[in-house]
Amino acid sequence: MENKVIEGKTIRDWTQEYPLMSKIISTEEVFWTNPKYEKFEDAIKKVSLSEEDVKDAEERLKRFAPYIAKVFPETQKNNGIIESPVVRIPEMQKKLEEMFGQDIQGELLLKCDSHLAISGSIKARGGIYEVLKHAEDLAIENNMLTTADDYSVLDSSKFRDFFSKYSIAVGSTGNLGLSIGIMSAQLGFKVYVHMSADAKQWKKDMLRSKGVLVIEYASDYSKAVEEGRKQSEADPNMYFVDDENSSSLFLGYAVAASRLKKQLEEMNVVVDKDHPLFVYLPCGVGGGPGGVAFGLKLAFKDNVHCFFAEPTHSPCMLIGMMTEMHDKVSVQDFGIDNITDADGLAVGRASGFVGKTMENLMSGCYTVKDENLYVMLSALVDTENIRLEPSALAGMPGSVKLFKEAAGQEYIAKNNLKDKMADSAHIAWATGGSMVPKDVMDAYYKKGLGLSLI
Ligand SMILES: *Cc1c(COP(=O)(O)O)cnc(C)c1O
Repeated sequence: MENKVIEGKTIRDWTQEYPLMSKIISTEEVFWTNPKYEKFEDAIKKVSLSEEDVKDAEERLKRFAPYIAKVFPETQKNNGIIESPVVRIPEMQKKLEEMFGQDIQGELLLKCDSHLAISGSIKARGGIYEVLKHAEDLAIENNMLTTADDYSVLDSSKFRDFFSKYSIAVGSTGNLGLSIGIMSAQLGFKVYVHMSADAKQWKKDMLRSKGVLVIEYASDYSKAVEEGRKQSEADPNMYFVDDENSSSLFLGYAVAASRLKKQLEEMNVVVDKDHPLFVYLPCGVGGGPGGVAFGLKLAFKDNVHCFFAEPTHSPCMLIGMMTEMHDKVSVQDFGIDNITDADGLAVGRASGFVGKTMENLMSGCYTVKDENLYVMLSALVDTENIRLEPSALAGMPGSVKLFKEAAGQEYIAKNNLKDKMADSAHIAWATGGSMVPKDVMDAYYKKGLGLSLI
């Protein structure tokens, strides 16, 4: 193994160049800060996407709001805008301090994308946005719709018949498939979801009940994506949602930031140069956390610090960023198995597009053991009565780790934040959970109760 060559270097070379690599390979928890992190004004110059692109996505979601409100009545109270609450979690903050033996300065909040309407995960942002954009593009190209129309007309047999001539395909570990599947089927598209072995049975069952064609693979996410891509290349009327490269998905996620900004204002959570904001985002292929973090950097610039969180067995973004090899390397190249109960994060190769876009904007990345995800899952139920799926807990230990880890302390010092930490806010981004069936959730909870932090 030590002599195996990856991108021209042996594993021994890689571990000598990056001392953290040995720990990553032995699936220990690590906390890495990004040496290429830059001031916002410098970093943003190197990125091809802009604030205009995010605004355009936000406008498109507003055009669709009357349609969304009509076909998903649970979104009516928010006028067809799919958005989740932010809540303070003081009891969980205390519990984390106790469990880790470490004070958290500032205030801990939870962004509940776990409770987003329609599909119960962060994928209700990017995934649904991309399907809507594709539907709009098709309808406009075929002179059936203009951007001035009331989009609730899409809920008609005329439009459903039109969309039924087209199909959509996607590869997924579960949640993206749920979002794409539910939204596409609702519009009338034929939809194929290529599911990796990690995908939970209840997610497949739910999709099939909505008329989605689910194709299962015995291997991981990369294979499911590859097969979906292949299928759509052969059919000109089939559109492939490319989780590894899609800028539409990314922009759909990015819209979260301007809405969060308003929510924080309403809660009197101040974000400015004396009140830094830290955000901890669970990461799979990178589109969700990357898009949200990109939007947050546009909204708060140097006053926000975004850390990505991955399972110790699937640290693809960490390895890609640290080695600067992005999608040229996979966790399997380094002998890591990509097997984790955090199915939403079970990705062995990160998106190269996201890695490059976030190269100078991401503050850092850390890993969490599956056992610890379960311990925090149960603790969150006990302290705040909030139920999340295991993946969604990856953001939870971020604040405590920032203070506990030497690299975190260095980051605080280097960015001149030491005397501002008492006035900081920390957001753990809860990325999924509200659709998990009760028996499955009860089993998660019981499992966590029987474990302690390792
Ligand atoms: C997909 C997912 C993520 C991460 O999103 P990526 O775009 O894959 O990085 C995080 N949490 C949950 C629950 C997810 O389903």
